[in-house]
Amino acid sequence: MKNLHHSNIPIFLPQLACPHQCIFCNQNHISSQTNVPTPLEAQTIIERNLATIPKNYDIQIAFFGGSFTCLPLGTQESYLQVAQPFIENGGVSGIRISTRPDYIDDDILRMLKRYHVTDIELGAQSTNNTVLKLSGRGHDRNAIQKASKRINAHGFQLGLQMMLGLPGDTLETALQTTRDIIAFGAKTTRIYPTLVVADTPLAKLYTQGKYTPLTLSEAVAWTSRIYTLFVENNVTVLKVGLHPNKDFTSNKYLLAGPFHPSFKELVLSDIWHERLKPIMQNICKNQSINIFVSENELHNAIGYNSQNRDELLKSYKHVTFTTDKTLNGYEFTYCHY
Ligand code: SF4
Repeated sequence: MKNLHHSNIPIFLPQLACPHQCIFCNQNHISSQTNVPTPLEAQTIIERNLATIPKNYDIQIAFFGGSFTCLPLGTQESYLQVAQPFIENGGVSGIRISTRPDYIDDDILRMLKRYHVTDIELGAQSTNNTVLKLSGRGHDRNAIQKASKRINAHGFQLGLQMMLGLPGDTLETALQTTRDIIAFGAKTTRIYPTLVVADTPLAKLYTQGKYTPLTLSEAVAWTSRIYTLFVENNVTVLKVGLHPNKDFTSNKYLLAGPFHPSFKELVLSDIWHERLKPIMQNICKNQSINIFVSENELHNAIGYNSQNRDELLKSYKHVTFTTDKTLNGYEFTYCHY
């Protein structure tokens, strides 16, 4: 039986081997890491992490941050070889990599399979050709579709990451990207609203007044619609928004954009706001309401900083939320009293 808990051991290879400069990207600033670990250092990172992860976890080694399959074949194999003993002795169940859609072919996929790579995440970012061009991605929609088909045909678990609010992106193009990611057979995704990071071409466009990022409320509203579509279509959302790091939160590298340290909570809270809207619109000042939700969703239903409860208090005398074991996901029931 598959372990319930999962943990990745991240080996971060910042912008290693990237053949393009995507206009939004400066992995060094985002991760606060500038050095690229050698394969030997990667081994030390794996050993150090394994010592801290409980034994009953499903563990994967994750080569993130660069474009893994753009590396020379020998270098890819050196990193993958380091991981093999940990897979052979059962400490680690597999390897995941992130890469670009235009650096996937059958030979590469066969090699990755030999080294027990199980999951491949592609930075799709958008499936709109204008957005891709304006963002300097250097590949088009067709490349994403072809790579996805190949990855699925070789039996890997496919992940497609997307960004919101890139130059030329609209809610409609972002929703189309979402529908494409589902249609291309992704099992997982990550959703990143575009931030303006220092020392990037996007930062230059922003300071010249040629690029306006999404506001926080726009980014939350777009993401909550997209998140819901993914959930309805059984695509697991692994991440929403960038994880805060010290330099980011001190605004050292973040020039503009919809950054919030609890971005995911804002999104999950907004999804519930939409669900509860019909009963928020009933004005029953003399009545109290009890809303029943699943245990997992209680926190999100009440809302970030209790914002959904506060909104309901504008319409009802008392508002209570109660858990109900028979409910799942976004299901809820309510009664007035
Ligand atoms: S391919 Fe990925 S890592 Fe490389 S520059 Fe673009 S976004 Fe950054």
